[in-house]
Amino acid sequence: MAVDPICKMEVDERKTKWSSSFKGKKYYFCAPGCLKEFEKNPEKYAEKD
Ligand SMILES: [Zn+2]
Repeated sequence: MAVDPICKMEVDERKTKWSSSFKGKKYYFCAPGCLKEFEKNPEKYAEKD
């Protein structure tokens, strides 16, 4: 399972239709609204190394 960085819900990465890549890492979302929010400001939500 992956964790939706917007709402922190667990998302099945094999089933979800909404995903995005940022700086080489894949992110998965529970809903199009969360994906949209991430893409508006990925720096804010992406994991920091
Ligand atoms: Zn979500």
